[in-house]
Amino acid sequence: MAEKLKKLNEDISEISTWLESDKIPWVIAGPCSAESEEQVLATARALKKSAQVKVFRAGVWKPRTRPNTFEGVGKIGLEWLRQVKAETHFLTTTEVANAHHVELCLDNDVDILWIGARTTVNPFLVQEIADALKGVDVPVLVKNPINAELGLWLGAIERLYHAGITKLAAIHRGFSTYMEMEYRNRPDWQIPIELKRLIPSLPLICDPSHIAGNRAYIEPISQTALDIGIKALMIETHIDPDRALSDAKQQITPDALIGLLDRLRARDTAITDKHVKGKIAHLRGQISHVDSQIIRDLAERMRWVEDIGKLKQQHGIAVLQINRWENLLDDHMAKAQQLGLEDEFVKAVFELIHAQAVKRQL
Ligand code: PEP
Ligand code: MN
Repeated sequence: MAEKLKKLNEDISEISTWLESDKIPWVIAGPCSAESEEQVLATARALKKSAQVKVFRAGVWKPRTRPNTFEGVGKIGLEWLRQVKAETHFLTTTEVANAHHVELCLDNDVDILWIGARTTVNPFLVQEIADALKGVDVPVLVKNPINAELGLWLGAIERLYHAGITKLAAIHRGFSTYMEMEYRNRPDWQIPIELKRLIPSLPLICDPSHIAGNRAYIEPISQTALDIGIKALMIETHIDPDRALSDAKQQITPDALIGLLDRLRARDTAITDKHVKGKIAHLRGQISHVDSQIIRDLAERMRWVEDIGKLKQQHGIAVLQINRWENLLDDHMAKAQQLGLEDEFVKAVFELIHAQAVKRQL
């Protein structure tokens, strides 16, 4: 681990210092937006039936993609959150996007702050928030940036840490993409996994609502998150989802949330059973063996590539032969398909290999 991150990793506060996360997954639930006192309180009361919900969320300032849509109720929403806390004893959280929001939240006893995806992309704003938090011991949850860039996510976490915040967690809410797909945001699980590898002590929370964009997918995405080893979920929950003023399609009722949590199966992150441990060690051995073979094969492939590169140079032939590349990709994908490998995966692997091969010949 890079030296810079080592200290951060050591200094991150145990989650138990700011949250009682006894049941896995522990959950942050509540509406996308606070819309009215009744909606906020009715949702919170209904959520109280679940022992897994620990934190109540509601956005009061909403970063909407297009203007002339509901942009949040503002400051009055903080008053409603205060009522939720008094009545239900939930911890409360809302999104902050600038120093003014931070100040108002702290004045109104919001327990936990979160930084939204559209703010994490902007180092100026993140720094402004970090500066406003100097000397304050409030937990901050950092959503991934809307684009799939780990650096910005890490950068935001580092900025907060340098301002003295150690009660930190990261929220994975998927990455925006230009392509049409069934989900609103691509999960690209390898990115939160890499974040966890770099900062193992940083708690990870998955927000399946914003990945899904549609309530039908919330459950399978939540299960995938748990299967990976993520221990917490943020799920948008509304007392009357179809009438929600923002993100209506992806919100679920408190009862639906309770049913969903009941069906989820959390997995153990520690391997305790000796017999299972042995079997896993054996399978890991087989996997590592194949990995070594792949590395040797790649090295061999690159040696042939260099030979062909020299030959092309001697005879003045261009490095990139587009027909050859097209044929090769079609051929490999057909073979891989027969062996049950996914097209997209094989294509991505060979695009990387081919790019490296071109580089080696230049
Ligand atoms: C939200 O949680 O309602 C929200 C705006 O999320 P994100 O920043 O992930 O888009
Ligand atoms: Mn939302």
